Amino acid sequence: MATLNAKIPDGPLAHKWTKYKASVKLINPANKKKLEIIVVGTGLSGAAAASALGELGYSVKNFCYQDSPRRAHSVAAQGGINAAKNYQNDGDSVFRLFYDMIKGGDYRAREANVYRAAEVSNQVIDHFTALGVPFARDYGGTLDTRSFGGVQVSRTFYAKGQTGQQCLLGCYSSLNRQIKKGNVKMYPRREMLDLVIVDGKARGIISRNLITGEIERHGAHAVVLATGGYGTIYYLSTLAVNSNASAAWKAHRKGAFFANPSFVQIHPTCVPQLNEFQSKLTLMSESLRNDGRVWVPKTKDDKRAANDIPEEERDYFLERRYPAFGNLVPRDVASRAAKERCDAGFGVGETKLAVNLDFRDAIKQQGKKAIENKYGNLFEMYKTITGIDPYEEPMRIYPAGHYTMGGLWVDYELMTTVPGLYAIGEANFSDHGANRLGASSLMQASGDGYFVLPNTISNYLADQIRVPKIATDTPEFEVTEKEAVERLNKLISVKGKQTASSFHKRLGIIMWDYVGMIRNEEGLKKALTLIRDLKDEFWKDLKIPGTYSELNMELEKAGRVADYFELAELLITDALNRKESCGAHFREEYQTPDGEALRNDNEFAYVAAWEYKGEDKPHILHKEELKFEEVEMKVRSYK
Ligand SMILES: Cc1cc2nc3c(=O)[nH]c(=O)nc-3n(C[C@H](O)[C@H](O)[C@H](O)COP(=O)(O)OP(=O)(O)OC[C@H]3O[C@@H](n4cnc5c(N)ncnc54)[C@H](O)[C@@H]3O)c2cc1C
Repeated sequence: MATLNAKIPDGPLAHKWTKYKASVKLINPANKKKLEIIVVGTGLSGAAAASALGELGYSVKNFCYQDSPRRAHSVAAQGGINAAKNYQNDGDSVFRLFYDMIKGGDYRAREANVYRAAEVSNQVIDHFTALGVPFARDYGGTLDTRSFGGVQVSRTFYAKGQTGQQCLLGCYSSLNRQIKKGNVKMYPRREMLDLVIVDGKARGIISRNLITGEIERHGAHAVVLATGGYGTIYYLSTLAVNSNASAAWKAHRKGAFFANPSFVQIHPTCVPQLNEFQSKLTLMSESLRNDGRVWVPKTKDDKRAANDIPEEERDYFLERRYPAFGNLVPRDVASRAAKERCDAGFGVGETKLAVNLDFRDAIKQQGKKAIENKYGNLFEMYKTITGIDPYEEPMRIYPAGHYTMGGLWVDYELMTTVPGLYAIGEANFSDHGANRLGASSLMQASGDGYFVLPNTISNYLADQIRVPKIATDTPEFEVTEKEAVERLNKLISVKGKQTASSFHKRLGIIMWDYVGMIRNEEGLKKALTLIRDLKDEFWKDLKIPGTYSELNMELEKAGRVADYFELAELLITDALNRKESCGAHFREEYQTPDGEALRNDNEFAYVAAWEYKGEDKPHILHKEELKFEEVEMKVRSYK
């Protein structure tokens, strides 16, 4: 049975990473060439890792299911990327960024990893700038910043509302350089179906060529999963529709513990669902809350147009409830506050499931041009979707599933509980505890890929230099391939009447209703029953035309939904186990008299890492106790 060892280096927090790097095992350049590394994923974390490892001289194989690495979901990130540069001279520092993240995550993240993420954030910005990422600049030509939720400094670097796209293009150019040099071999339109373990170590993957349907074996000395988050478990979310958890879930079934699966971020500012045919929701970046003011009418069921409601009849509920942070409270707090107002009957729009995000005052103060310069593309996007011009009328927004703090458990070196298997970016349980602060995911994903993993992986690979190229004609690869094919055939052979998407949609509704922003024991138990029933129905009535040995998008979807049923059960188990409210995990039973999250540090100051024990067997819970040496666990307040 694997055990948890976070491998946190000794010494003061601020020295750990420097000390680690100075003592980590190194590999000479001639040996690096002989070591193969598989990186699955080409988002910011995967493309960064693949290019950095290629630059170091390793032989890298990089996989993604898109037709080009630059289409990875990271391309959608809008608002910005954090760094503790303190260019504004507003009191920022590495420690303050670390502190904001620990507090923002409601004291459920590992101190040492979070500090390191803050520490490498400055290198990330320098690196992207060197790669030519066109970050916004101020009048004097220096990099500009703006604020994001949960902080009182301005540390978010941005490229209009397209920060992810611009950063990913930077990553993609460095990746292409390595592809050209032959250090990275790119495998687009491939889906990892399973992880291959040889003598207890990760030694390769089985993948499917999504164009031809061919099943492939790939060996390597180490495998890195950079496969993103599982927010699409809610069906409707801000993520790319194809984002999924299957690679991480398959690794979990092979021994990688899954940590804090119930920590899911619901983002407060999304375009509300417009009809039941939608397969995706659109984010309106948190950066908009720098200038936009969130409000609802003071009168219930007010039918007047927003612009006709006078100032004194508007309830700026975030500014009212949280005067210190106002509209820039963290996402979990803002989402619950919006839901509370809508549930109480003050919502706006036809469905009453929306609140206003109003730029009237900002336009008055700064002028339309200034607002357009900062958010022009977001305003355009909003108008295209809704037909409403946000320069003239407030945007209507409502919370939606967005980001998953949970993921594969990793130690300080970003290694999972399977030796030689690493998880980086959103795929790991990450540095964000129970709630991620805005703009810190791009920071963590890029930091993991460019600056952390390339250092830590040598500590493992240094002991692998005598291991020859991993052969794939071995029983381990054969058995894993056979299992993967059997799974595909099992899905195809159901021959029922309902599509994978229709099941996914129904799963999403259950998850949203009972396992969304607010949870309680009764609802969670009900969701568990409903999901088990739906899973049974799925395996009896799923319809997939065609075979696995051809282009078959229905099969791709079905495989992902099948894994989501299993992950959903674990997510709910974790939510039931955590009898406290912390960050985005809000259990109705555990709240303060004024409706804020009530943590239970005595019993739950731990990372819940779940071990898979086999189909239909209960998972085993392992606890990584969280020790806070540099910060004091306090009630998180933004008032
Ligand atoms: C709309 C939106 C806006 C956002 N804005 C911001 C922001 O402004 N700032 C910020 O910090 N964060 C933001 N985020 C969060 C951030 O974008 C993501 O957390 C981050 O980009 C994740 O990067 P990643 O490298 O971990 O994974 P991803 O970018 O999700 O990439 C996953 C990769 O894994 C591959 N993959 C997955 N499974 C398989 C498989 N089985 N086989 C082969 N390949 C596979 C995919 O092909 C893809 O290449 C936003 C998120 C959304 C949804």
